[in-house]
Amino acid sequence: MPNMPHRTIHLFRKGLRLHDNPTLLAALESSEVVYPVYILDRKFLMSAMNMGTLRWHFLLQSLEDLQRNLTKLGSCLLVIQGEYELVLRDHVKKWNITQVTLDAEIEPFYKEMERTIQVLGGEMGFDVLSLMGHTLYDIRRILDMNGGTPPLTYKRFLHILSVLGDPDMPVQNLTIEDFQRCKPVPELRLAECYRVPLPEDLEISRDSQSPWRGGETEGLQRLEQHLKNQGWIANFTKPKTIPNSLLPSTTGLSPYFSLGCLSVRSFFYRLSNIYAQSKNHSLPPVSLQGQLLWREFFYTVASATPNFTKMAGNPICLQINWYQDAERLHKWRMAQTGFPWIDAIMTQLHQEGWIHHLARHAVACFLTRGDLWISWEEGMKVFEEMLLDADYSINAGNWMWLSASAFFHQYTRIFCPVRFGKRTDPEGQYIRKYLPVLTNFPSKYIYEPWTAPEEAQKQAGCIIGQDYPLPMINHKEASDHNLQLMKQVREEQYGTAQLTRDDMDDPMEMGLKRERSEENSKKGKRARNREQT
Ligand code: FAD
Repeated sequence: MPNMPHRTIHLFRKGLRLHDNPTLLAALESSEVVYPVYILDRKFLMSAMNMGTLRWHFLLQSLEDLQRNLTKLGSCLLVIQGEYELVLRDHVKKWNITQVTLDAEIEPFYKEMERTIQVLGGEMGFDVLSLMGHTLYDIRRILDMNGGTPPLTYKRFLHILSVLGDPDMPVQNLTIEDFQRCKPVPELRLAECYRVPLPEDLEISRDSQSPWRGGETEGLQRLEQHLKNQGWIANFTKPKTIPNSLLPSTTGLSPYFSLGCLSVRSFFYRLSNIYAQSKNHSLPPVSLQGQLLWREFFYTVASATPNFTKMAGNPICLQINWYQDAERLHKWRMAQTGFPWIDAIMTQLHQEGWIHHLARHAVACFLTRGDLWISWEEGMKVFEEMLLDADYSINAGNWMWLSASAFFHQYTRIFCPVRFGKRTDPEGQYIRKYLPVLTNFPSKYIYEPWTAPEEAQKQAGCIIGQDYPLPMINHKEASDHNLQLMKQVREEQYGTAQLTRDDMDDPMEMGLKRERSEENSKKGKRARNREQT
């Protein structure tokens, strides 16, 4: 019967929050009872994206936080383990459900899940309502505006957004009154049997835990803390942030955006308010709103590009004959390259699950076009497992970027694994923190300890080749060779390379330009346009 209030399951997938949650709000407005459910389908989760221990902890913490926050509003979170289709079948019947609400997502595995739920709805007689909550815009509108295809450059993307106007405003935060309009969930008293599992219930080791705590509450606290610093927000210029600072020099909000503990729309509008009160503020691509737009850009392209996370069958990606070298890949993954800057970054990734954007640049370039000539897909999979913020669209998009397979075209710029880190941390404090074995090396040698005389190595209590590896590759020779390979690939596949190309410089290079041109004028013109960052 039309207009009859629904009995609804609100299915959390990402969107683990109670602020700016349009789908849950719509569920509450259209229902006599709403069951907030998280289906912990391990098989589905692991097949969608490989998930390492740190992210498991982060997810469980985020669910606990959601449960606490829902309880405060007189509701609860019902966590049900099992295959999502079976769980839904059971509970739709058991609770006489007439509607399932869920956030629309763009990843193929989530789209397939939604299709399955739609089919199930047809069969069992419930409605499905899905709304966009994870991105600034309804991505379909951007695609429509661009003639049904994704805009493949940031510049083109910004042009489309200028036609669309600002994103929709965030919806109101959910309150106790929103929940009181509905009947209490009868299972509230049974909430114990629907509790968030402990790590040991899932056989997840407690030995490795990130210092980052999951959940909306923590995410909002971090966000508010940053917003107090209005000058920093207004002047934020991504290339000027520091990859090897001991605390994040950027917002560090990505793990919270990635699970939807924080709303990107709320953040976008809070930034707009600060910009409105500032005399001057930075702009995309380097501003903080610019960062959110990069996110949106990769979501848009990923949503409509077949095989976006693969090279084969991906129409925007250069087809490259990368080396297959399990041993070298293993060394990179396990922080055993012998280049302290690279190994320190990989260690931070293992221990904490978050590294700075430029640190991601350094290790991604090293693995792919810079030194090892190993496929970006391999690096993407390692990041997928280790990062707290691992994201289908952003991860693949940036790996294609760094390997110069798509989006980024100034491939002659190869990061030097010795000089890159030195410019912002000449004393090597970051290396000393993450590679304690090198702690006692004088600063002069900390980025290339193999050049230290034997006596200095002895004094530092670390013999290179014995206590810490020798460099696994000669950077100069390897990068020269790879540059030639890349040049050849790009000449052969000129058409593909042009697809994602525009005349905008790499935003991460902007802040470095002046310094470089000064350097260059001192050294005189180089024989070729090769830059070692
Ligand atoms: P801030 O600079 O504070 O930016 C605010 C937000 O903007 C971020 O939280 C993020 O949501 C978004 N953002 C920032 N930079 C980018 C970018 N380059 N592309 C898209 N969105 C961006 N980010 C992920 O969220 N998940 C990933 O899986 C991921 N994989 C990456 C892989 C590689 C090889 C590289 C080079 C970058 C990757 N990034 C990824 C992008 C970026 O490094 C992180 O988003 C950023 O470092 C997170 O830190 P922050 O929250 O302090 O960012």
